[in-house]
Amino acid sequence: MDNEEEKEAVNPARREFIRDAARGASVIGMTFAIGGLLPASAEEQGFVWQINPHKCTECGRCADECILQHSAVKAVHAYGMCGYCDLCTAYFKPEPYELNEGAENHMCPTDAVRRKHIDGPYYEYHIDEEHCVGCAKCVDGCRSFGNGSMHLQIQQDICVDCNSCSIAIACPSDSFEKVPADNPYMFKTEEDVWHQ
Ligand code: SF4
Ligand code: SF4
Ligand code: SF4
Repeated sequence: MDNEEEKEAVNPARREFIRDAARGASVIGMTFAIGGLLPASAEEQGFVWQINPHKCTECGRCADECILQHSAVKAVHAYGMCGYCDLCTAYFKPEPYELNEGAENHMCPTDAVRRKHIDGPYYEYHIDEEHCVGCAKCVDGCRSFGNGSMHLQIQQDICVDCNSCSIAIACPSDSFEKVPADNPYMFKTEEDVWHQ
């Protein structure tokens, strides 16, 4: 069975079952492979998958290649790096009709990037995780013209820790790494602003 067929075989109901079962297993501290549906989890070995944000090239595959119906990959925001710009290139399309909060001006296809006025010309940008599909459009916009403060991370409370992460296989920039399960994120920090 090739990758596409395997992905197709995990229908939405089954994906939900896998996710719920994995969450349940995590809650009660059990470490077992779920009824043979998944290979032994990476977490069993003390490691989980995570995206190295310095390697990601915003190809968009994180939105489509996850075995879950809604990708476990979400955009996150390193507030310490952000310029709090009015003209945010993660928020606005490259050529917006107007610089206002109308949906027609938004870069994000699901309206998951929200902004709040802080003071003067400064705005704070927040990701609504429930709506984010991990498409990386905001990440691309931010890195191309801004400080690179938006980046992608696997949300560990959603990910079921497949032994072979299907996004890792598809990722063209080798961005997926196994990290210790007790330190499972690779968030950017303000120090990264000098390394964009
Ligand atoms: S542009 Fe894509 S990655 Fe960014 S918040 Fe919207 S759905 Fe998530
Ligand atoms: S390991 Fe990869 S494919 Fe599996 S649920 Fe997590 S992000 Fe998705
Ligand atoms: S598949 Fe790799 S390069 Fe593409 S958006 Fe995901 S992490 Fe970035």
